Amino acid sequence: MRLTTLGTAGWVPTARRETTCLALKDGVTLIVFDAGTGLRRLLAPVGQNLLAGVEAVDLVLTHYHLDHVCGLAYLPAVLAGRRLTVHAPAAAVNGTDPERALSELIRPPYNPGPWSDWPDITVRALEAGDNEVAGHLLRLRAQKHPGTSAGYRLDDLFALATDTGPDPETETFAHDVAVLAHECWYNDDDPATRRVHGSLLPSFRAHSEVGEVAALAARTAVGRLLLMHLNPLFGEEYYGRMRDRARRGFADTLLVPDETEIDLASPA
Ligand SMILES: [Zn+2]
Ligand SMILES: [Zn+2]
Repeated sequence: MRLTTLGTAGWVPTARRETTCLALKDGVTLIVFDAGTGLRRLLAPVGQNLLAGVEAVDLVLTHYHLDHVCGLAYLPAVLAGRRLTVHAPAAAVNGTDPERALSELIRPPYNPGPWSDWPDITVRALEAGDNEVAGHLLRLRAQKHPGTSAGYRLDDLFALATDTGPDPETETFAHDVAVLAHECWYNDDDPATRRVHGSLLPSFRAHSEVGEVAALAARTAVGRLLLMHLNPLFGEEYYGRMRDRARRGFADTLLVPDETEIDLASPA
């Protein structure tokens, strides 16, 4: 199974990085995590490669903040002729019924027609704990984030912890996976962090600091750590320093551009 980074920014897309969207491909199975602006890369050559031979796509949502769902508006263009199942946390996880949330997001006047007009889409609620998606075991846990975000673990291959502070429960949940994709929002040691306008700092506390992320990855004994959901207030040089900081706590840390393919099975 291969992971392709279609979007690795949080909040605001930048010239280099779209907002959150990660694709896992295994034969004719394509599982996409989150529908940020990165979903538009399915129209680019990288995405056309991913879609080759795929008749049914599984899209798994962590939560409904717009940086994770604005790509839903692109679905008719991106998936024309393919079946789609949208998997989202059940109301018992975050207090929001998936069908209702999606119908609220995709409707006039924000979209030409209602969600129910789109053909070939099934919505499925994912419960906390074990779920089956495309023949894989997908485990869900509720994370602490405004509105609640879902953390996911797919078999022993992949875990996603985005839109969360470093959470000790992630250590058990993601233990031993080949690749942990963890959000990384800022670096306490970097002088550039202190130049951020004070009005923006409260939102930082809903997210993760790099030193804590690296320490968590080390305790979680993952194969590799992928830094993602990067903060658009900073740039590539800042991210590079963040990666170097992370590697001091966990050597097998990856910082990659969008449209990078990572083989989950092979070692770092
Ligand atoms: Zn986000
Ligand atoms: Zn969020």
